[in-house]
Formats: sequence, C-alpha cells, structure tokens
Amino acid sequence: MSKLLIVGTVAFDAIKTPFGETDKILGGAGTYIGLSASNFGIDSGIVSVVGGDFPEEYLKMLNDKNVNTDAIEIVKEGKTFFWSGEYHNDLNSRTTLATELNVLADFNPKVSDEFKNAEFVMLGNLHPLVQSSVLDQMEERPKLVVLDTMNFWMDNTLEDLLNVIKRVDVITINDEEARQLTGEYSLVKAAQKIYEMGPKYVVIKKGEHGALLFHEKDVFFAPALPLEEVFDPTGAGDTFAGGFIGYLAKTEDISFENMKRAVIAGSNLASFCVEKFGTERMENLAADEVQNRLVQFKELTQFEIELNK
Ligand code: AMP
Repeated sequence: MSKLLIVGTVAFDAIKTPFGETDKILGGAGTYIGLSASNFGIDSGIVSVVGGDFPEEYLKMLNDKNVNTDAIEIVKEGKTFFWSGEYHNDLNSRTTLATELNVLADFNPKVSDEFKNAEFVMLGNLHPLVQSSVLDQMEERPKLVVLDTMNFWMDNTLEDLLNVIKRVDVITINDEEARQLTGEYSLVKAAQKIYEMGPKYVVIKKGEHGALLFHEKDVFFAPALPLEEVFDPTGAGDTFAGGFIGYLAKTEDISFENMKRAVIAGSNLASFCVEKFGTERMENLAADEVQNRLVQFKELTQFEIELNK
C-alpha cells in the first residue's frame, strides 16, 4: 500500500462565525489533511512543528487514527502557530484576524526515514520554503505531489511559492486565490495560466459551490453537498485536499478518471468538516456515515437525459 507524507500547519485556531465563536482550539492545515486522509486506511505521517503549549492529547488523537506524528517537532520554549478568522454571513468568505507564525517562523522540517520514500506527498498550506525542503528530502520523485496554499503566502513569499509550484503535479487552491495568483478573472483562463507555472492538474475549490478539476482541455465539476447545517467552514479546503490525495493513495491510480473520483471523495469528507466547529466532526466520523453520504452524492449528480441524435 502507498504511503502518504503530509506537511502543513498544526495549529491553534480561534474562529468566529455567525453561529458563535471559539477560544483557541485545535486546527491547522496539516491536522485537517491528516484527519481526512485517515479515512482511507493508509499509512500517513505529518511533518510540522508545534510549541511547548501544544497538548499531547492532540498528537495522541492523530496517532489513534494511524497518523504518524513522529516528524512533528515540539519546540518546548516556543508557541504554536496561531490563526484567527471571522466568517461573513454567507460563510463563503472570511477575514483573517491574526496569523502568528510563532515556531513556524524558523522551522526546518525533517522528514523521518520511514516517509522519505512515500509515493504520495501532500504539501499542505504553510511556508513555501518548508514545502520545498520536504520535496528535497524525498529519496525519489514521488508518484504524485499535490500542493495547497493560500493568499497569505502569495502576499508575503510569492517568489518562493512560484518556485515550489513548478515542482508539483496538482495544485488545489480556492477561486479567489486562483484569481490572485494569475490575475485572471475567468477560472478557465486561471487554470491555463497555472499549467504554465508547472502543475498539470488544477483543482479550484469554490466553497459551498463545489470544486473544479482541470487537466489540459478537460474539466470536471463536483458540487458541494447542500447541507442543512453549516457551522464552521474552517478546514474544509484542507479536508478536501486530504480526501483527494488519500483516495488516490489508497487506489494507487493517478489517471484523470480516477482524479474525478478523488474530487468526489474530497468533497464528501469536506461536507462533514463544516458541520461542527473546528476538527470535532472529523475526529468523530464513522465509516458508514462516509459511505452513506457518498450515496447521496451519487444521487445528487446523476441524471438520465435523452440526447437528440
Ligand atoms: P482552510 O479553511 O481549509 O483554508 O484552512 C484553515 C486552516 O488553515 C486553519 O486551521 C488554520 O490554522 C490554517 N491556516 C490559516 N492561515 C494559514 C497560513 N497562512 N498558513 C498555513 N496554515 C494556515
């Protein structure tokens, strides 16, 4: 079975939505990706850094889901990365209130020997130099490298970001960030510009409006499941990415046809993430819930229509 190496923030988040607010709770791109990918029964490991203020029980929770945390460095005298955000009424847009890099500011990632030969690598959202360094440490070119990023790194470290984007197969990015990265309003044109930067596959996430997968002239669209309750969209993008690559690592098939299924698997898992604040829903997700919702996804998207010959 393929191994999945994940890099991304392991963080404290403070979140405000129209339904309430939280104090510092567990968050981080790496955390959400790990939790999501754990639904596929694959061996995965996270490379990241936390401070001495990070509760050990969170690492244990990940270990219990077969997510290896040996490469999460603990800087005893440091503070964990902290992010705070506030969602607007439509829950599709948010304002970042604080990004405190803390121990992430001078983090030198170390991939453990066990994961240096991982076939699948998920470069989750964090400093692009950390993403590059993880790639440098791989013994061989992995079978598939997926990168996720956000506007913070475009604003602050664009050149480093462009250098790592060159080296990846798939980029997952939200619509506004795709526009910022390329200067194109049309997402079709934005995807074409991103191909020129390196990735052959582009996934554009559109929050409650689903996700688009682009490859050469092909496009595939997966809706997001219409949900009765959405409490907190934090981590939905990372959960999508973890589901996308987790599915590919499990099936070991990186064809465009299989990537379509991976987009559905990612969208399916992201639909759970938003139902509770923070990581709570993903921590307590049962396999049959995931399966049942996949059936709903199929029903939502399938139709018969007669075509004129
Ligand atoms: P998402 O909602 O999928 O965009 O991801 C939200 C998660 O990303 C939160 O749990 C944050 O801790 C984390 N995050 C926020 N800003 C950054 C950043 N600049 N770099 C890395 N991770 C971040």
